[in-house]
Amino acid sequence: MTDIEIAQQAEIKPITEIGAKVGLTADDLELYGKYKAKIEMATIQKLQEQKFGKLILVTSINPTPAGEGKSTITIGLADALNRLGKKTVIALREPSLGPVMGIKGGATGGGYAQVLPMEDINLHFTGDMHAITTANNALAALLDNHIHQGNELNIDVRRIIWKRVVDLNDRELRQVVVGLGGPVQGVPRQDGFDITVASEIMAILCLATDIDNLKERLGNIVVGYTYQRKPVYVRDLQVQGALALLLKDALKPNLVQTIEGTPAFVHGGPFANIAHGCNSIMASRLALQLGDYAVTEAGFGADLGAEKFLDIKVPRLGKSPDAIVIVATIRALKMHGGVKKDQLEAENIPAVARGFANLERHIENMQSYNVPVVVAINEFVTDTQGEFEQLEALCQKLGVTVKRASVWANGGAGGEELAQAVVEATATADEKSFHPLYQADASLEEKIRTVVQKIYHGADVHFAKKAQTQLQTFAKEGWDQLPVCMAKTQYSFSDDPNALGAPEGFTIAIRELAPKLGAGFIVALTGDVMTMPGLPKKPAALKMDIDEAGNAVGLF
Ligand code: ADP
Repeated sequence: MTDIEIAQQAEIKPITEIGAKVGLTADDLELYGKYKAKIEMATIQKLQEQKFGKLILVTSINPTPAGEGKSTITIGLADALNRLGKKTVIALREPSLGPVMGIKGGATGGGYAQVLPMEDINLHFTGDMHAITTANNALAALLDNHIHQGNELNIDVRRIIWKRVVDLNDRELRQVVVGLGGPVQGVPRQDGFDITVASEIMAILCLATDIDNLKERLGNIVVGYTYQRKPVYVRDLQVQGALALLLKDALKPNLVQTIEGTPAFVHGGPFANIAHGCNSIMASRLALQLGDYAVTEAGFGADLGAEKFLDIKVPRLGKSPDAIVIVATIRALKMHGGVKKDQLEAENIPAVARGFANLERHIENMQSYNVPVVVAINEFVTDTQGEFEQLEALCQKLGVTVKRASVWANGGAGGEELAQAVVEATATADEKSFHPLYQADASLEEKIRTVVQKIYHGADVHFAKKAQTQLQTFAKEGWDQLPVCMAKTQYSFSDDPNALGAPEGFTIAIRELAPKLGAGFIVALTGDVMTMPGLPKKPAALKMDIDEAGNAVGLF
């Protein structure tokens, strides 16, 4: 059965019943139909003093076309923890229509480890993406209008850095010219679109702690520079109030359920390659306040999502993980070990051993933060006992627990051993010994070098001329106290997507920096990574349909 068939046959419960499991009453929920709800602001405020449970961060090796199944394991692990009698709540990102219609598919898990209703979550859900897109584009319109109406702030139209967004993969929109057609049609200038999930508004929504903080962050966005090269902020345009208003409902976390009835907050969805890759702080907090265990996921491999979780999100969340679960599959390890995609079915123990180099580096990286690490092998039917034993032996050498999980095939029941190992790992965690990768007062250049050398294990960093100039001007503005958010390919530790395994001796090229003062980080763009993806030759959209009864078909 396909994911969508399993999801459609699952027995879904009213969301009020799911909320009740963690003490939420009808007054705490703002219902979006029967199966989705947002959490009322008053409830969020009421829970503020509530003690946090334990935090489990799920991450993975560098993704390959063979598939890893991080969301699947996140969901299955939480179901398994609940089966073991541990009150567990999930915090996940919400999917973007870019990958849903494109190549990767949705982000609601798979098999018997899914969040429901998967069609809604993968399509328009509760409208958060719409609100974020609209707030982003309202700012673009207000900015262009300011210039058209006389440009009191003296904004240099050649130095505007605020782009428009749409939540689709649409390469045609990467570079556009706006304002053509004469004086009444606006002021012509070169512009471009990013995908919504790369928007700074998305990052702000995910890092904001309440409405005041949201407004302050929106006011701090830099949209461009004046002719005197001074930064122009949203607060100069005086529209942070309007933008915050557009986001008033999007800011509230969404509650849904897994197939097994585990409560899941699915809220905020920045990509981990071109943005910071974590669900909202407000959703994570709720999961920690309502559960004895909160299971969350950071996007792509541990070099991207987890690094950003630990260095950007943790200081703002005020809580570091009690355990990190690194997901791998035997198939993906074989790909990292040089096996081609069409030969993954056959047993290949030496390839597992070679590909282990990628997992090993992620294990050591995560251990360097002083957080207990557990490896989860997402079982595929093609895995052999010999391959797993090879992997187990290699993990044992590093002193790391590795467990197989068959949650895709068996739901929570297939993840109990993993859940037990994770519970034991969290018992050994000591939050006070959490070791961040870099200090806030290190320069931006030092921070970037540290990520490249300590996490990617690259030899050096090359800053293009533009990035060099920016390092100087950003330091003058005092922006170098901010963390860095690396924009890099997810497929490799390096900036070359084809360098699988554990490449060494490479140089990372930083072509440009992008100040995100509202989000509170500086994006460093490496290689030729793009902030507006394109569609593949055969997009997932080709298989999608709707039947006469109104049911979604072919949504993977
Ligand atoms: P990630 O979070 O790493 O991107 P997902 O959990 O979203 O991965 O899974 C991606 C796809 O792989 C889903 O369609 C899911 O059904 C499929 N998948 C995950 N685990 C398995 C498995 N063990 N066997 C077969 N297919 C799987």
